[in-house]
Amino acid sequence: MGVVFTKLGYKNYSEIDAGIKGLFWVTALISILPLLLHQYGIDFASRQEMFPFDRVHEMSENEISDAHFFSLSGAFVHTLLECSAFIVAFFTVVLSFTHFSIKRNSVTPIIGMALFMSGCMDAFHTLAADHLIDATSPNTDLIPFTWAICRTFNSAIMIAGACIVMAHHKPATGRAPGLALVLITSLGFGVAAWSIIHYCATVAVLPQTMFPDNTITRPWDMISLILFLLAGTLVFPKFHKYNQNLFSASIWISIIPQVATQAHMAFGSTELFDDHFNIAHFLKIIAYLIPCAGLLLDYVRIHKHELQMRRIEETAKIKAIKLNKEISEAHAGALIIARDAEAAKKQAENLAAELEHSNQELEQFAYIASHDLKAPLRGINNLAKWVEEDLKGVMGEETKGNMALLRQRVTRLESLLDDLLAYSKVGHNDDNSVLVDCKEMLNGIVYLYDDLDIVLKVNIHPNLPTFFTKKRALELVFRNLINNAIKHHDLTEINLDISVQNKDEYYIFSVKDDGPGIAPEYQERIFEMFKTLRPRDEVEGSGMGLAIIKKLIELQDGNIWIDSQAGIRGANFSFHWKLK
Ligand code: ADP
Repeated sequence: MGVVFTKLGYKNYSEIDAGIKGLFWVTALISILPLLLHQYGIDFASRQEMFPFDRVHEMSENEISDAHFFSLSGAFVHTLLECSAFIVAFFTVVLSFTHFSIKRNSVTPIIGMALFMSGCMDAFHTLAADHLIDATSPNTDLIPFTWAICRTFNSAIMIAGACIVMAHHKPATGRAPGLALVLITSLGFGVAAWSIIHYCATVAVLPQTMFPDNTITRPWDMISLILFLLAGTLVFPKFHKYNQNLFSASIWISIIPQVATQAHMAFGSTELFDDHFNIAHFLKIIAYLIPCAGLLLDYVRIHKHELQMRRIEETAKIKAIKLNKEISEAHAGALIIARDAEAAKKQAENLAAELEHSNQELEQFAYIASHDLKAPLRGINNLAKWVEEDLKGVMGEETKGNMALLRQRVTRLESLLDDLLAYSKVGHNDDNSVLVDCKEMLNGIVYLYDDLDIVLKVNIHPNLPTFFTKKRALELVFRNLINNAIKHHDLTEINLDISVQNKDEYYIFSVKDDGPGIAPEYQERIFEMFKTLRPRDEVEGSGMGLAIIKKLIELQDGNIWIDSQAGIRGANFSFHWKLK
């Protein structure tokens, strides 16, 4: 069976539901069992006794009644078997319509209806055999004939049902035929069944269907046997492939008892109610029962699936509730964070305002201090000069040295105050933008160092721009950087390289020297106020130059930085300068 399924397009045998596998083997066993038991000697024929007409006058009323029952036992067994088949067919069609209402797959009711119509035919066959409806022919003709007709109808209508379903299947959309087709097909099946019943009941002479002496005892049953074989090998495998579910598989499996039924009839049964006759009727019930079992198995599967879905749904619901809770918690957290951020922002704004205020105060203080201290300082300088003049000739060498030192310190203090004043004024000057030719400006600055006792080589790159900018500020920056490069150089030959890089919104100017350089650990400190790296007695300087130009550059949203590496000579100061 596995090989068969594989050939028909299944990837492997395990794809077939375990229920179907079980159904297949149980069906095969039940279909073969009566034959085996028959071979073993068990008799399934109805024990029918002829009514004892010759002894009627000797018998009591009860004995006569019993004799009637004994003579009809074959008919009773036949009726019971046929009724069972009809009831199963009825249940199958009811189940198939219920299945349709759940799955909206019209394949099931079409096949269910075909099965039910076969059941109706069987019911008619039974009613006619029991003479409960008017039939013109004797039972010996009527029962085998209507049986053969019912079986032919059964096989043909099942094949027709499967073919109708497959013909209306739209592979492109995967949609099965709809309810309209179910109704039309059911009506067609019904009319066909009724017409055959009507014909069989009213036809005057029925053809002979039983040939007890032949190998094929009931040749008419060969028709349905062949049809069932065709259905089992050609139609239903295809039908199952097209509509892969438990019901279509069970329809296919039901062909086993169908074929067994017909084989018992066509090759075995020689008279009414004999061994093979009863086995065939029993197997027909099995044949009807298998699709019913297939539907029930499918229900179990649907139910299991639903339970699973419900469980998944519940889990999803629990997860959703949990997620919702987490979201609302996160939301609350976000609100708190937003509130905190707002408070932090306000605090930062307040701090910025306070800083701005204290900066202003500091600048004001620096301005006042440097401005106001200059006057007494000038006074001290003058006084020192007068004392020197008054004590000319009296002063010893040491006093002279001390007086010179005093004036030097006063001068230094004056220059410190000048720089402090310059620092506090940064940004307060009216420095309007004018067209500045950088090369010309730099040449002017360098020219001032001409008469110094040094060899100064300055390489001004030709791409230095001419542009509109605050000339005084830019000149101050360059002047300080060039002055530092010369002032803090340790040799008499000094090489400077002044270059520029053009970025979209600003220039990056660089002033590079070949002096001693600045060790990395001091590179931050040199931009602070009053910071010098060497004692002022060695190199005169206030330590304000870089602080002033840093402030100037930052006021223009720029930045200044230094590249100088330990153990390598030279310092390169670079700074941003806005294009406009
Ligand atoms: P000043 O030059 O008045 O001392 P600056 O603020 O301009 O003050 O410089 C701070 C310190 O940085 C200087 O005292 C000096 O030690 C160091 N410095 C600045 N420029 C250079 C340079 N080009 N080469 C070496 N050292 C430098």
